[in-house]
Amino acid sequence: MGTLVTVTVWAEAASQADGALTDGFGTIERLSARLSHRAPHSDVSRVNAAAGHRPPVTVCPELCELLEAGRRFGALSDGAFDVTVGPLVALYARASRVGRFPADAELAHARSLVGWGGLKIESGANRVRLSRQDMALDLGGIAKGYIVDRAVEAMRRAGATAALVDAGGDIYGLGTPPRRDCWRIAVRDPAAPSGPTGAVLPDLVLSLIDRAVATSGDYERFVTLDGKRYSHIVDPRSGRPVAHMASVTVIAEQCTEADALATAVSVLGPDKGLALIESLPNVEALILHKAGGRLRRIRSSGFAQYERARA
Ligand code: AMP
Ligand code: MG
Repeated sequence: MGTLVTVTVWAEAASQADGALTDGFGTIERLSARLSHRAPHSDVSRVNAAAGHRPPVTVCPELCELLEAGRRFGALSDGAFDVTVGPLVALYARASRVGRFPADAELAHARSLVGWGGLKIESGANRVRLSRQDMALDLGGIAKGYIVDRAVEAMRRAGATAALVDAGGDIYGLGTPPRRDCWRIAVRDPAAPSGPTGAVLPDLVLSLIDRAVATSGDYERFVTLDGKRYSHIVDPRSGRPVAHMASVTVIAEQCTEADALATAVSVLGPDKGLALIESLPNVEALILHKAGGRLRRIRSSGFAQYERARA
């Protein structure tokens, strides 16, 4: 997954807790090997390598399920979220190595390779195909959340009564830890200088029970082009990387949803992004937005129910 994953688990017996940890990490390892677009033999890499060719590639059912979820969030966000964004992400990765914004022709070419129309998912048969050569899936905006959900499911089955899975900012809090009334989660301060641990917002703690939280931000991973800093998130509609968004934190019932929506809202910006969140039941967001040199906090209408004062 390209990140450090921390799992904390409680169960009735130590042996059950051990079993839950084994199953949780086993799920994380199995799925990240299949869903990463960087691992050369993953299901995603095989689909990308076969782009434009026949027949469709047979993949694990989890990839089909994840792509269906991706398509749903793509439709909900009017195309702001798009798992076929691979060619644009690769273009900016190359551009960042020379520090210059890509040329118009390259940008137009990469943009022409992005879009849901070219992704065929045969869920019943577990087969996937990209219709044009050089199209590429990139699940970086949703796969971590999905893997967290599947790990929590495996741990619950193994007898975990409470657990916290933290995959570098994609988090699920199951139940409540003993002698506590919730899981307490801090939010990174995107304005604070990033160090190994990073600073957190001093006045804010989230309280979670059976909820997921995911944060997308440009403080950790970003590109510098022509001296200007951009996010690693690309707007598939314009083909340009996102600027001016500091971070988006989404709370939802599932981490898949929280992860995808945090990325989608980063693309949509504060106004449209907030409207999307308000339109969805049981989803809340905190948007930290750079405006006029200051960091503005924008909360969805129900976000405050998850806020606690810092002790
Ligand atoms: P996240 O940190 O969850 O916001 O995911 C960011 C990652 O998602 C990027 O590093 C890309 O791999 C991928 N990505 C970039 N732009 C988009 C987009 N518009 N829709 C879906 N995934 C994206
Ligand atoms: Mg995301």
